[in-house]
Amino acid sequence: AQPINLVNEPILGYLKGSSERSLLEDALQHRQSTCEEIPIVIAGKEYWTDDVHYQTMPSNHQKKIAKFCYATPELLQKSISASLEARKSWEKVPLNKKVDIFLKAGDLVSTKYRSQLNASTMLGQGKTVFQAEIDAACELADFLRFNADFAQRLYDYQPVNVDPSIRNSVRHRGLEGFIAAVSPFNFTAIGGNLAYAPAIMGNVVLWKPSDTAMLSNYIVFRLMEESGIPSGVVNFVPAEGPTFGRAITTSPHLSAINFTGSVPTFHWLWMQVGQNVDRFRNLPRLVGECGGKNYHFVHSSANVEHVVNSTLRGAFEYSGQKCSACSRLYVPSSLWKQIKEGLVEGMKQMKIGPVTDFDTFTSSVIDERAYNRIASYIKHAEQAPHIEVIAGGHRDKSVGYFIHPTLLETKDPRDRVMVEEIFGPVLTAFVYDDNAVDETLELVDSSTSFALTGAVFAEDREFLAQAAERLKMSAGNFYINDKSTGAVVGQQPFGGGRLSGTNDKAGSPHYLLRWTSPQAIKQSF
Ligand code: GLU
Repeated sequence: AQPINLVNEPILGYLKGSSERSLLEDALQHRQSTCEEIPIVIAGKEYWTDDVHYQTMPSNHQKKIAKFCYATPELLQKSISASLEARKSWEKVPLNKKVDIFLKAGDLVSTKYRSQLNASTMLGQGKTVFQAEIDAACELADFLRFNADFAQRLYDYQPVNVDPSIRNSVRHRGLEGFIAAVSPFNFTAIGGNLAYAPAIMGNVVLWKPSDTAMLSNYIVFRLMEESGIPSGVVNFVPAEGPTFGRAITTSPHLSAINFTGSVPTFHWLWMQVGQNVDRFRNLPRLVGECGGKNYHFVHSSANVEHVVNSTLRGAFEYSGQKCSACSRLYVPSSLWKQIKEGLVEGMKQMKIGPVTDFDTFTSSVIDERAYNRIASYIKHAEQAPHIEVIAGGHRDKSVGYFIHPTLLETKDPRDRVMVEEIFGPVLTAFVYDDNAVDETLELVDSSTSFALTGAVFAEDREFLAQAAERLKMSAGNFYINDKSTGAVVGQQPFGGGRLSGTNDKAGSPHYLLRWTSPQAIKQSF
């Protein structure tokens, strides 16, 4: 195994006058004045169909930045065959060669393609420069480099040998068949990880990127080719969701689905797999990460200023469109006045605007469907007698899909806004009686079906121990005195249980275990 220097990619500041800033400004300008034509790519060959779509800028929806087309069922069949063909030689490529490809890709992300990745993520997915940087530059480079290291560590493991006449060993094999990666709009790095983490373990992949992350994901695809990944190992197949779903789940060669997205889509895929279970040569593995209803629970011993700053960031960065975003806040009545004032003041100071302004705090939401869904929750709150709109609520979709950060207070802790995933900049607070800590912890745990992330804020150690125990199953990523977002590859393996997914922990060796089918060999002499 080659030693890999596992340091998370440093976050650049993009200050005025810096070289990274001028490179990024050039890339932004280029991307705003171009509509990139993106093909379907199967075994290195480009295809076009009549089913044409555009990716537009969410903060200026008249502006097209990419043109792409959906694969037909025939092309999807072709990509399945091409991936199976590519598998024959890819599985024979030794791990150290694969590691070289991934390390090179990590370096291309952090150098040559950094500004392109950031510009396409900012314009296409509506991220501010900081949010793009921590995703499309840092997290993506981290996934590539850390996965190379995790793969080596898994390969290094060997079983016990005790008897000199017996030699035991384990060898890793890619799954037999192909893997379908279905990735979301909200993280460029997640697209890269869903498609390429299986590849380093010897698998071949059909990658269906999100329509609203097409450009950045295509850049990832091309830079992986440049790093030396052979054609056909990952096939880039934009497609209509159900068409793609039916094509993969009716193929006997489907070996796994690697999914990040909504609960209904993951459940639908699961049902399709169930209905076709007799067809498969191997039982497909289903790996999914599906969102959350993440909480910040504040104890009366908490540091108020820290709660306020963490909550503003956890709830409203990237307009609450992280699966990990905080959307329910539990505050003891003794602290509510101070925390409310702090949040309202902070919200007043947030700059909401286009992503090309470098001091924007957050921009628009991703598309019209998201806008309408989030707006319907705000409308519900405006009409419900037990909910008060404390701040925000303003929305306007005339130019871009802008929804201002919104703070609600509800008297009913089981109202829709406290239970359902809104996936937007809407935070709901519930004020509890300082003497009702136990009951409120019980409420935090039982009132939603999700269990992705959660945070508790307190200085009181006894309370922290109690909360950690009581909320044990309520979050796959649990934060003590920190916001619910911002898991770092290798540091906080990411994923949750219950409706939030299969908790396979992206950014850790556990994740790679899903992409290998080890063979144990006993040799007797
Ligand atoms: N890993 C990200 C975080 O901790 C969230 C990923 C997601 O939105 O799926 O903020």
